[in-house]
Amino acid sequence: VPKSPKRPGRPNTIARELFGVPWGKMEPRDRRQEVALVLNLSPDQRMRFLAQHALDPVFDRTSFATLCDKFNVSYVQVAKAYKELKHSEGLLRAADHLPEIMEQVAQDAKGKTQACPKCNGKTEEGKVCPACSGSGTVYVAAEVERLRLLFDMVEPRQKGPSVNIDLRNTDKTEKLSDLYATVDGIVEGGTGGNDGNS
Ligand SMILES: [Zn+2]
Repeated sequence: VPKSPKRPGRPNTIARELFGVPWGKMEPRDRRQEVALVLNLSPDQRMRFLAQHALDPVFDRTSFATLCDKFNVSYVQVAKAYKELKHSEGLLRAADHLPEIMEQVAQDAKGKTQACPKCNGKTEEGKVCPACSGSGTVYVAAEVERLRLLFDMVEPRQKGPSVNIDLRNTDKTEKLSDLYATVDGIVEGGTGGNDGNS
């Protein structure tokens, strides 16, 4: 057995970490396809190359780890590419909920009129509730914290990581539309995994 701890492929690590099987055993087909479909969207050409081979029926009997070894791709590289794509997908899915959440924040920040807690809205005869002057309702002003949240949302006073859609510390800024284009496949396809093969 050749001892080569610094071999870049490290197929056994890939097989175990990505698929939970030792090298030499084929990984579950659906999991292999899932990983390949994600990597196929990578901006890294090497990852796409690897993914396309993993999806190619010609390599049906070649394990993913062996393919990685063949193309000199390490587990760290695969894991990094996979994580980045999943991260982008997560951001997009989260972004879908933003309008609703923003609206909710705005609604919660509003002051409201509610039943007087002292008299419970029932004014007794001959007595005027001091809390609501007999109207049965009181106005509750918005909490300052909620207002702050709303105004920060509309116009952030300080820039933090949460206002930047691209958290990967790269130089380029990624527009939301670009993100959509990048991960369109996984977002649309969900876990179904339609690979176009019949
Ligand atoms: Zn009252």
